[in-house]
Amino acid sequence: MPVYREVNELPHCGSCGKLVSVGGIRVERLGHPLLFCSERCIEVFDSYKVPKYGEAALWEESIVR
Ligand SMILES: [Zn+2]
Repeated sequence: MPVYREVNELPHCGSCGKLVSVGGIRVERLGHPLLFCSERCIEVFDSYKVPKYGEAALWEESIVR
């Protein structure tokens, strides 16, 4: 019997929040391995979210475990 993970257990892009099932980009930010859906989203994270929100820019659901 196949085991499906709950959608909310799957990683979401650290910038736009889109569900990333395959082909995400993994980068280390603020001491955590984070997942993003595209280079553009990493750019937005680095140039907008982190300067504006600091640690709060980190989304629990984007941290790769
Ligand atoms: Zn994204």
